[in-house]
Amino acid sequence: MSEVLVLVDFVDGQLTKPSTELLTAAARLGKPTALSLGAPGDAEAAGRYGAKRLVSVEEAALAEFLVAPKAEAVAQVAKERGSQVLLLVSSPENNEIAGRVVLKLDGGLITDAVDITADGDEITTTQSVFAGNWSVQSNGARGTLVVTVKPNSIPVQEAPGECVAESAAVTISESAKLAKIVESKPKQASGRPELTEAGIVISGGRGTGGNFEPVEQLADAMGAAVGASRAAVDAGWYPHSYQVGQTGKTVSPQLYLAAGISGAIQHRAGMQTSRAIVAVNKDDEAPIFELADLGVVGDLHSVLPEVTKALKERQ
Ligand code: FAD
Repeated sequence: MSEVLVLVDFVDGQLTKPSTELLTAAARLGKPTALSLGAPGDAEAAGRYGAKRLVSVEEAALAEFLVAPKAEAVAQVAKERGSQVLLLVSSPENNEIAGRVVLKLDGGLITDAVDITADGDEITTTQSVFAGNWSVQSNGARGTLVVTVKPNSIPVQEAPGECVAESAAVTISESAKLAKIVESKPKQASGRPELTEAGIVISGGRGTGGNFEPVEQLADAMGAAVGASRAAVDAGWYPHSYQVGQTGKTVSPQLYLAAGISGAIQHRAGMQTSRAIVAVNKDDEAPIFELADLGVVGDLHSVLPEVTKALKERQ
């Protein structure tokens, strides 16, 4: 296997954790080359996770327009370098970039993979589908295989080595410049990790009765992100952007704690692939317990503060 191109992200100059996961996966498959769109990235950081090369593309259109210029830039670099595999972190934007890139390269596309392995030149991807009830293994049939991988799916492994920084020039067509960004505002920072990227997610449901304080306090004690069930967001107790589930965000953290959430199939669809699931519910027959690795039968308003207190005493 030769080159595996990985679209990486730097936020405030730091390589994001999902990017390090993808570089770890790429190092298992072949020779990883990191690709950074926008400001030149940090080659030393990419090299720590096995990247042999960091290619940066600086082009004004990448920031001025929606995804089309990014897709053109990624496709041109992949074509130029003859990359056999292209990995991107799963996100609405990257899934769209991946779809556009695969058409330009006439290759194969797998979205939302949770694993990717190689046996010689044969690449196998794994997806977790139907609310996590089925695991599907697929191979790319032709050309460049483009794969988006869910954050928190691949355990990060450092593989320090030299990484050469270089820049690449791309040509962005006029037809890719049709959807211009006219305004963008940074999201108000909560100080908590991004829900879809967090290693730990603490979610609250109808059982909170609208009081998310115990959920937020435990999340802060654990460095976790906060999520919510649809019942909680529909009641106006938490913003819709924090909804986990079929019609909300899909999360796959190392630890998911569901507090006062019954475990409806639509909620499970968004969190079932979490590594470990803990449920706190006062009903010992709540369906969430069928799924949980650890279940606590009790009132979340007393259980969560007890855990927060115990954690703080240990810190
Ligand atoms: P409930 O089902 O009412 O459960 C509340 C739980 O809290 C109960 O188990 C109760 O025992 C427990 N509880 C109550 N008080 C306490 C307490 N003090 N301490 C501890 N436990 C307590 N839902 C989603 O979450 N995400 C989605 O994306 C989503 N998409 C949907 C899409 C469609 C098309 C449809 C039809 C539904 C969707 N739903 C979704 C809704 C889903 O079916 C459930 O209605 C919802 O998940 C229920 O939320 P809940 O578990 O918080 O509430």
